[in-house]
Amino acid sequence: MTARDWHADREAVFDRDARTCRHCGTVGDDAEALRAYPVGDVALEGEVHESALVTVCADCFGTLSDSPSATPTGAEELFHYVRETTRIQGETISTVASFASVATALPGDLETALDDEGEDAALEESIAQYRRHRRDVLLAIAVVDARLERLAALDYDADEPAAADALEAFSETATDLQSALREVVALSETVATGLDRCHGCFDALESGPSCDTCGLAVRETADWEADDGTLAFDRLFATINDRLQAASTTTETLTDRTTTLAERLTAE
Ligand SMILES: [Zn+2]
Ligand SMILES: [Zn+2]
Repeated sequence: MTARDWHADREAVFDRDARTCRHCGTVGDDAEALRAYPVGDVALEGEVHESALVTVCADCFGTLSDSPSATPTGAEELFHYVRETTRIQGETISTVASFASVATALPGDLETALDDEGEDAALEESIAQYRRHRRDVLLAIAVVDARLERLAALDYDADEPAAADALEAFSETATDLQSALREVVALSETVATGLDRCHGCFDALESGPSCDTCGLAVRETADWEADDGTLAFDRLFATINDRLQAASTTTETLTDRTTTLAERLTAE
């Protein structure tokens, strides 16, 4: 089975996203300019649910796939590429923080809706926000992953060992930061699972190992259960905050490493 063996209602995805690339904001007037990019761990076979697809423009799709034209060549281009990657990763931290904030508000939002009939519209909006923020955050992480993979594939140690070392130090820290961000996203998704909702499409979970609506495997919550078997939201939220804090500290290291790389590249 190849990656082409899945299908989806792409037009519905494009319309939902106002025919706008969710990474760079480019508006695509015709269908040729837009692509539906799969995010999350949903299986790419058969009909893929819209909650696992996000609209991107052809350029961003090129960044996300194996487009050799996106590979930087030469010291100056390399430095611009690294600086741009740092900038995008910095924005990704904010995107992750927003998603965490939407996710951690969900238990309260659900409770309010249950207590107060007529709050359905507000709850629908919270759920829509969760889905949208989740897609955006997974896309942002995928873009940075793709850029870092491209840097890792560069053979940049031949002539300038000092710059190559600095590039490696940068890549290492950026990769650590990616793992930290992925962890915050997974913890935030666990909030949905703790509410017996699918962490992707947010539909109510039945008893099976995967979601009936979108097919995502149900996330494991055993680590977060309190003694009475309910989900320990307080402990989960505290951990999310800790991890976000740690990610900010890593960003400072990353900035230093970007500066070092700039100095070594311009010293050539
Ligand atoms: Zn784009
Ligand atoms: Zn689902």
